[in-house]
Amino acid sequence: MKRGHNKTKIIATLGPVSSNMTMIKRLIHAGVDVFRLNFSHGSHEVHKQTIDLIKQANRELNTHVSILADLQGPKIRLGEVLPLTVLKEGDTFTFTTHPGIGTNQMAYITYPNFPKDVKAGETVLIDDGRIELKVIETNRKDTVVTQVVFGGPISSKKGVNLPDTQVSIPSLTEKDHADLMFALQEGANWIALSFVRKAEDIIHLKNIIRHHGYHARVIAKIEKPEALKNIDAIIDATDAVMVARGDLGVEMPVEIVPFTQKELCRKCLANATPVIIATQMMESMIENPHPTRAEVTDVANAVLDGADCVMLSAETAAGKYPEMVIKTMVRIIEQAEKDPKIYDRKNVPDKRSKTYLSDAICFNAANMAGDVHAAAIMGMTKSGYTAFMVSSCRPKAPVYIFTNNPEVVNILNLLWGVEAFYYDGMKGTNNTFREVQQHLVEIGRLKRGDVVINLGTMPVKEMARTNTLKISQIL
Ligand code: PEP
Repeated sequence: MKRGHNKTKIIATLGPVSSNMTMIKRLIHAGVDVFRLNFSHGSHEVHKQTIDLIKQANRELNTHVSILADLQGPKIRLGEVLPLTVLKEGDTFTFTTHPGIGTNQMAYITYPNFPKDVKAGETVLIDDGRIELKVIETNRKDTVVTQVVFGGPISSKKGVNLPDTQVSIPSLTEKDHADLMFALQEGANWIALSFVRKAEDIIHLKNIIRHHGYHARVIAKIEKPEALKNIDAIIDATDAVMVARGDLGVEMPVEIVPFTQKELCRKCLANATPVIIATQMMESMIENPHPTRAEVTDVANAVLDGADCVMLSAETAAGKYPEMVIKTMVRIIEQAEKDPKIYDRKNVPDKRSKTYLSDAICFNAANMAGDVHAAAIMGMTKSGYTAFMVSSCRPKAPVYIFTNNPEVVNILNLLWGVEAFYYDGMKGTNNTFREVQQHLVEIGRLKRGDVVINLGTMPVKEMARTNTLKISQIL
């Protein structure tokens, strides 16, 4: 199946309105590149059914839509709360670490060390910051007394954010571990970790994945002030970054979100690390068939900032118009991608890097593609490395990547401007180049007379990093 022309990829979260074969296929046709499963909700049984449907749709449509498993991470929540509970400004409200049904005076919090970690004067936020409380005192054992600053209704299991507190919950909870093993066994291509605080959180997750023999790649969700302090090391450690604007805008002053987005896009692009912009992109389309002007501008700005992907949450998981959301997003992306400023980023390779030589080839391939108006850059890869490098240079020419690892084909579907194919030929560099060109002609991506750039390894059998660039014209 021919994918759309947009280079910026679309991630759609599946949920009650979209986890069925008809809608999954419609969303793929409309332009989805990655499906996200949110492990904050849903049972393994339901997630398995959804994953099976995505795999079946990929087989039937001959697509390689990625599966992204989003782990909840150390998310803190309230326990059960009586219906119609409302907190009033100025009242005292107590958190306890003993489970029980909550009232407007006291509720259970799913964070056993909260009384030890929190200090008087710190802020507690409930329900995406709608409710704000100030800590008055803690007995450092099982009870924290607060005062309500901004009140309102609270309900069972609502999220709690502690923007001022050094939270001591491990980065990968027991639930995350179980969800991770499940997602890996079911073939997830990308694993996102919520509330990442430091590079070690990502290294730990990667070690578990490798230890169990899987190749899934890791996304660091940036939504904590601590993560921003450690951002360079996190970007070095991770395979991709998500600007998780929902929690980020609760944990930090909301006005820093746009600048954080721009800064993370800049740093990730320079590091060849894909970056995803998430949350509230088309929020009003949960209820309405058309987005607001502000949402259209937000999606276009994400493209202009250099994002690899834009992500939808409730819009496609629980909204009224999931297919329309994707079609509208594709139109916005296509329009934004007409702006020449997003192309040909000068990602000059680092001479001190041990991958400098192959980085230099990828960088020059992207540069040269502009000069000679190439119709394609074709790369061969085992790990996907060439695809990450070429994509980060943002060439105008489409990037077609061939790999003998079927898993890598799906992983690469998340990368800006990249379309990946399975290819298992080992026929010498020239023959390989000719075969992949031929394949692209057969499926209509290339035509006679097109100037193309091939990247590969010589000798091909050594499977070393990219060391060869060939420029040719399709005969
Ligand atoms: C976010 O907070 O922006 C986000 C993407 O996380 P989640 O939807 O998992 O809460």
